[in-house]
Amino acid sequence: MSNVPQQRLLQTAIPGPKSAALQARKTAAVSAGVSTGLPVYVERAGGGILVDVDGNQLIDFGSGIAVTTVGNAAPRVVERVTAQVQDFTHTCFMVTPYEEYLEVAEALNDLTPGDHEKRTALFNSGAEAVENAVKVARHFTGRNAVVAFDHAYHGRTNLTMALTAKNMPYKHKFGPFAGEVYRAPMSYPFRWPGGPADCAKESFDVFVQQVHAQVGEDNVAAVVLEPIQGEGGFIVPAPGFVKQVAQWCADNGILFIADEVQSGFCRTGDWFASEHEDVVPDLITTAKGIAGGLPLAGVTGRADVMDSVHGGGLGGTYGGNPIACAAALGAIETMKEEDLCGRAKQVEALFVPRLKALAEKYPQIGDIRGRGAMLAVELVNGPGDLTPNAALTGAVNKACHAEGLVTLTCGTYGNVFRFLPPLAASDELLSEGLDIFEKAFAASV
Ligand SMILES: *Cc1c(COP(=O)(O)O)cnc(C)c1O
Repeated sequence: MSNVPQQRLLQTAIPGPKSAALQARKTAAVSAGVSTGLPVYVERAGGGILVDVDGNQLIDFGSGIAVTTVGNAAPRVVERVTAQVQDFTHTCFMVTPYEEYLEVAEALNDLTPGDHEKRTALFNSGAEAVENAVKVARHFTGRNAVVAFDHAYHGRTNLTMALTAKNMPYKHKFGPFAGEVYRAPMSYPFRWPGGPADCAKESFDVFVQQVHAQVGEDNVAAVVLEPIQGEGGFIVPAPGFVKQVAQWCADNGILFIADEVQSGFCRTGDWFASEHEDVVPDLITTAKGIAGGLPLAGVTGRADVMDSVHGGGLGGTYGGNPIACAAALGAIETMKEEDLCGRAKQVEALFVPRLKALAEKYPQIGDIRGRGAMLAVELVNGPGDLTPNAALTGAVNKACHAEGLVTLTCGTYGNVFRFLPPLAASDELLSEGLDIFEKAFAASV
């Protein structure tokens, strides 16, 4: 695994002087609209360690937002990308195609849920994949409306901003947004008004009633759902909710789109989170973990749906770029050969008991949720007071950063602390990261 020692090492304060100098240049050169969560400038990375310009070695609990699932600079990714970049860098698949694109499409058709006939189209980003899934769904159904959920995150382009639920920072003053997007309540057991036990049944009933009353089933082209929500707070819907929604879609001629941009590619202990829900989506969007860090995204789905679009209706200059495809093939090969789905389950087994022990001590941990290596704790004010505690979340995050642990928060209320370690990180690194998190928690609470 590259030449990066798999050890945490702090040589300066975090961020160090060289990072601070670069951050000053950043302020002068880069739009203030692009912010940095932890302004340490990375020089090298491998496995579960990031090496910064000051020589610090940080433990990575974020994977660049669920991207470097196979580890940073994973050997098979590096190997294939290096070979590909020497062969050719671009032709545009829509002009003169190449085999690597087909191999990725075949792999996605094979790995995504369901053994029906499938087709894939490749793009550059998760947002672009979601946009294209909606385009395909509208084209196939001849309907306009799209239903998304509270706490959803689907990207930053105009249509995907409309699908995304949270105003700050994603939507604020960026409107007007794309039309014909409707929102339904999310099945959110921890905050369900009737309590978690009734959430499964009630959340589906409310969804059905609301779509019926406010949109009308016959107007709906697609329902877009993250089977575990990402940026919105790692919300795991009540058991059965995803399956009921998918079945309801099928009964009403509506396409069910699973946005697995964050939850896909072994992250949750299965290739895709839909599998755990026993759901076969009509269309599934992928990105993030697909290509070990190179920009690549896909829409995979029913052949009749995907083939309904006229030639030239889908594509893009860079979509399915050969280098990104080579990276994806290296990443997928790594996931298979190293059984990274199994590894994600081990990560869950390592994390959850420790998070539970912490929750016993601190009533500010209101909920522990997620699956595999997509885990989170939701922080609240205290016993019996479920008010979101964003201040504590931010303080713990900062304290982790200061100790050389790269952590991320999320959630509509900014009070969810999430864990997305690379699946290449050793147990030792993960345990050390958890030690840091526990200390940071104790010091901040
Ligand atoms: C990150 C994310 C997106 C957007 O992906 P980009 O590559 O940032 O455009 C869409 N959906 C989900 C679920 C995501 O987590």
